Amino acid sequence: MKSITLTRTPTEKYYASVLVDDEKTEAVAITDLQSTQVVGVDVGLTDIAITSTGVKTGNPRFVKNAQLNLKRKQKKLSRCKKGSKGRAKARLLVAKAHERVAFARNDFQHKLSKQLIDENQAVIVETLKVKNMLKNHCLARSIADAGWHSLITRLDYKAKQAGKHLVKIDQWFASSKTCSCCGHKQENMPLNVRSWTCECGYLADRDINAAINIRQQGILKLKAEGLSVSANGGKRKSSTLLVAA
Ligand SMILES: [Zn+2]
Repeated sequence: MKSITLTRTPTEKYYASVLVDDEKTEAVAITDLQSTQVVGVDVGLTDIAITSTGVKTGNPRFVKNAQLNLKRKQKKLSRCKKGSKGRAKARLLVAKAHERVAFARNDFQHKLSKQLIDENQAVIVETLKVKNMLKNHCLARSIADAGWHSLITRLDYKAKQAGKHLVKIDQWFASSKTCSCCGHKQENMPLNVRSWTCECGYLADRDINAAINIRQQGILKLKAEGLSVSANGGKRKSSTLLVAA
């Protein structure tokens, strides 16, 4: 045992985090990947994650749903006299409402990241898009809800533990505008366009098309790092990703 860290939350719960060395060495990274085990993931607001296999998770919008409840409790708190017993009680209720939102979000993200890593040898995400969207103030609240950053962090350590790969695409490329079938780049692609037909005849769902492009970029990156990605892996097992309520 290396250390114990004690924390107390605003809702007066106590946690002890114990750091131990199990003397196990880190998982050896897989170097021969099957292309059927490589998945591209696009992040969004309507769906937190969209995979290159065509699965959309939906968006649980925990904060948004709990917002009304929070607002009510916050108002109550502001009306309480400073230093009063009622104020301490009201503050605890606000902290509990915040805590419930955080627990629900953590739970969803743990399940989603675990499933993506369990079912694949490599997961490809586009991190630059997340950075750019965070700059947009109008979207800021929904984005805080979506919590992409913490989702990517969870994917990262789960991949390392399993000897799998999380590939971050942090260089700009036209993931939404490019046809994943023929590579043709569309001139314009406003946010409200959800699907389009390419001149090659491919009918593209905006987000799934982007996820497929992200996957292709990721495979190039994996290969550039000296890993092999072979095409023969048989048919991919179909999977149903958890869908948020
Ligand atoms: Zn095309």
